[in-house]
Amino acid sequence: MIEKQFNTKVFDIYGTTEGFVIAGQCEHGRYHVLTPHVFLELLDEQGNEVAPGELGHVVVTRLDAYAMPLIRYYLGDLAIKAHTDKQCACGRKYPMLEMIIGRDTDIVRTRSGKMLIVHFFTGIFEHIPEIQQFRVVQKDLDSILIEYIPAHSFFNKGILKKTERIIHEKLQENLTIYFQQVDRIEPTPSGKPQIIQSFLEKPNLSK
Ligand SMILES: [Zn+2]
Repeated sequence: MIEKQFNTKVFDIYGTTEGFVIAGQCEHGRYHVLTPHVFLELLDEQGNEVAPGELGHVVVTRLDAYAMPLIRYYLGDLAIKAHTDKQCACGRKYPMLEMIIGRDTDIVRTRSGKMLIVHFFTGIFEHIPEIQQFRVVQKDLDSILIEYIPAHSFFNKGILKKTERIIHEKLQENLTIYFQQVDRIEPTPSGKPQIIQSFLEKPNLSK
């Protein structure tokens, strides 16, 4: 809507409330890491750098903040590292991020170590119009609770069985799924819709 109203193009940047930009979109929509200013690491839960294409915890070191250094600062975000052999058509040589996922509390973990991001669930629920809104709540590794608001009064609970089956087909792992119909799903304090709420302990990247 902004692009249409202002007859311009909108670019996204990825930064921190600590006041610096980590990556920015170029005219081809790819996120380039601003390496002259920041050293970015994407780490697994043991604190090792993840391979390209994999999900990692964002840890940043600011290279030009002489008054207030930030060294290996754990942001609590997740991102996917791009393959280094990928070149962007814009010609910039800065490394790229494949995808910025968001908060690392916004993931569901499984017993086998899989991490299910918001897109895992939105990719399923976008094909289930009977459910207007949902939130996934996780309190232990073996189960999730899906709170949902039905889209209309003709809601048939059979759709929940179907949803459960699709999740299990995609996941290929045992995970108990509970459903609970709710009237309202509260947004986060910042006003964003919350899709996943995890009460699991945060990973400890102390290395
Ligand atoms: Zn580019």
